[in-house]
Amino acid sequence: MPIYEYICLKCNHKFALLQGLNSEKNTVCPGCSSKEVKKVVSSFSCSSGPGGGASSAMPVSGFGGGG
Ligand SMILES: [Zn+2]
Repeated sequence: MPIYEYICLKCNHKFALLQGLNSEKNTVCPGCSSKEVKKVVSSFSCSSGPGGGASSAMPVSGFGGGG
C-alpha cells in the first residue's frame, strides 16, 4: 500500500498515512482531529528533460577529509 502525505490546513501539521485507494475520505489530522487536510504530492518524480541518464551523476565533494 502506498503512503500518502497529508498536511493539516488548520495547524499545518504534516503527517503520512498508509492508505489504500478508497480510504482517503476518513482522513483526519492526528494533531487536532480536523478533517481539513490536504494531500501532499511527493517531491520525488521523474523529471523530463534531454538526455536519459540511468543513474544520477552527482559530484561528491566535501565528503570526508578537508582539503
Ligand atoms: Zn491539525
